[in-house]
Amino acid sequence: MLPSPAPAHKPKAPAKKLSGPAQALHKLGLRRDIDLALHLPMRYVDETRLQPIASLRDGDTAQVQGQVLESRVETRSRPQWILRLADASGELVLRLFNFYPSQPKSVHSGQWLRARGEVRNGFFGREMVHPDWRAVTPDTPLPTTLTPVYPSTAQLPQAYLRKAVASGLARAHLTELLPAHCIPPGFPSLRDAVFFLHQPPAQTPIQTLEDHSHPAWQRLKFEELLAQQLSQSQAHAARALLRAPALRSQPQGLAQKLLAALPFALTTAQHRVAAEIRQDLERAQPMHRLLQGDVGSGKTVVAALAAATSIDAGWQCALMAPTEILAEQHFGKLVQWLQPLGITTAWLSGSRKGKGRKHMLQQLASGEAMLAIGTHAVIQQDVHFARLGLAIVDEQHRFGVAQRLALRAKLSNEPAEPGVDTARAARVARAGKAAKVGEADGPATQATVRVETSNPSNTIDTLSLEPHLLMMSATPIPRTLAMSYYADLELSTLDELPPGRTPILTRLFADSKRPQVIERIRQELKEGRQTYWVCPLVEESEHLDLQNATATHQALSESLSGCEVGLLHGRMTAADKAATMARFTAGELHLLVATTVIEVGVDVPNASLMVIEHAERFGLAQLHQLRGRVGRGQVASVCVLLYSAPLSPTAKARLKAMAETTDGFEIARRDLHIRGPGEFMGARQSGDALLRFADLATDEPLLKEARALAPRLLQEDPQAAQALVDRWLAGGVDYLKA
Ligand code: ADP
Ligand code: MG
Repeated sequence: MLPSPAPAHKPKAPAKKLSGPAQALHKLGLRRDIDLALHLPMRYVDETRLQPIASLRDGDTAQVQGQVLESRVETRSRPQWILRLADASGELVLRLFNFYPSQPKSVHSGQWLRARGEVRNGFFGREMVHPDWRAVTPDTPLPTTLTPVYPSTAQLPQAYLRKAVASGLARAHLTELLPAHCIPPGFPSLRDAVFFLHQPPAQTPIQTLEDHSHPAWQRLKFEELLAQQLSQSQAHAARALLRAPALRSQPQGLAQKLLAALPFALTTAQHRVAAEIRQDLERAQPMHRLLQGDVGSGKTVVAALAAATSIDAGWQCALMAPTEILAEQHFGKLVQWLQPLGITTAWLSGSRKGKGRKHMLQQLASGEAMLAIGTHAVIQQDVHFARLGLAIVDEQHRFGVAQRLALRAKLSNEPAEPGVDTARAARVARAGKAAKVGEADGPATQATVRVETSNPSNTIDTLSLEPHLLMMSATPIPRTLAMSYYADLELSTLDELPPGRTPILTRLFADSKRPQVIERIRQELKEGRQTYWVCPLVEESEHLDLQNATATHQALSESLSGCEVGLLHGRMTAADKAATMARFTAGELHLLVATTVIEVGVDVPNASLMVIEHAERFGLAQLHQLRGRVGRGQVASVCVLLYSAPLSPTAKARLKAMAETTDGFEIARRDLHIRGPGEFMGARQSGDALLRFADLATDEPLLKEARALAPRLLQEDPQAAQALVDRWLAGGVDYLKA
């Protein structure tokens, strides 16, 4: 999210041949004046004071000024330039390794030098090894402001960058966009804040600058957060103008029938969120709702109920899952639930090609199949729905930003193609046909009629209707993210697990305890239960991954003779994966060695032990997801995290969190703390920071203020609001839509 230029500051076309440092500037994205002005120091050095040499202690970083007593170059293994410097209080040696041959010739005895560096009290007295230094006269003034140190690269010397920033700063448009009464008390104007941060007065406590708590920092963060809130409000307003089919659920309709046929009763939480979704679906505006519920909280059945409602009203539903295994499971479950009710489901995945796929596509285009389930193959270009009323995205955070954007594009009206009229005619015709689905004859027809006639002067074209969108996630959004990035999203929360679950016990074991763990597996198997063994991802190497999993499979098969051990990894064909999964589900396999392909959604209630090897290599959300594969049945489950020491501090924090809590919300909160929000949003592919200045882990109070102000500002001064959004949010990846 880079601030956008004021119109007069369009990025300059790069000159034909940029110098090295100029190229480096460009690479850092420092192209416009505003970019430079907002490139803030990461730290500061204090060059505003001189210290008497005699007062320097070992380890001090200090600035001194004195006259050269002696200058000589020693050539041992490596040339050294040695300068003896004295002020009124004492003497100091400067030892320089990087210098041009001409430099020693330019410094004579008696010359005044100013030097800054770390002091060592060596054998030969005080010295500074490669200090910063420059020639001065006794009356060369000291700077009155702290010297900024900017984030930079090897190709970009600080001195060059400082000059570039200073001139960018002088030219940048830092107009105050906020009306005075909207600036929180104690905060400087934007211009003052930015100037202050580049050139803080000597007495400013450096700590408050470096930890970003200084009011100047707060001001910038506040404005950034405010812009984000404003943009969310705008998105919300824009969405309110969109139209969607009103999917009215029928008494005794499909959803009711599904409920009656389920082998269990819904939990109170499931009832509540199902009702929230139902109400959204009934409205003629597209739903934009996230259903969050911890692993195992029973989101699938809620999704199935929503699908049933949509289908009942004569509109198709698409369900998309991030992995083939998960999609397959959904397919299995939903077909089992919905087929008896007369619903035809199409299966779309990357691996289904050729004739089979063509047939599915036809079924979807004709409306014969009312439900499509699959991976992101569901949003491929050639997939056309007769009348898509509801899209459900499971484990939505697992889809990358690009895929989420593609989905949004798919959901909003696709560009009209040459055959629009025929397409529309076909849709209308199919509306009648769709009415034949199941026994929902009457309701579907009603729904269709309502859509076609509710606006007689301008028959609503089904083409102009957007489908409802339901996203699901087992990774709860931390509160601050919900208030910022997801502010435009309705939230439903499943805060209750189905009854009869026993909490999962999580144990940490050093890798050396592996034999005991294997013994534990043996016991589990004896009692007729099943185990997962998860092998870690080897960074950057799918091949090693595979080797590792294969070797583990072999070793475990040998040490657990008489037990059926299966292997599941990403390189297997979808059919092989499905077959293995089916055998495990059926209980034919006792132990399943797998890579993270089983991470999401897999549901085998009889599995009660989960072993995760090299748990230190996994992310917290991932560990939580993996652990969620057990604890799905009546028996008490155990999750064993095997780790190999030494652990990095963040790995330690992750494992500790896992051992301490099974609460998905708490895990998410800690995860945000450990990783920061960028990764959380699935943005790591793009490398873009989500917020440039604000930090959601620490800036909740500012976020709250921005949230309170945004609606007021929109109302009182829409122009200022727009200008703020333009300044901060134009360009870059549009995460807000993803
Ligand atoms: P998740 O929220 O992780 O997607 P699932 O939808 O896979 O969870 O549900 C986990 C398991 O709990 C499934 O076997 C599902 O059939 C079962 N389940 C869901 N709701 C209930 C309920 N109300 N009572 C009993 N079991 C349920
Ligand atoms: Mg699920």
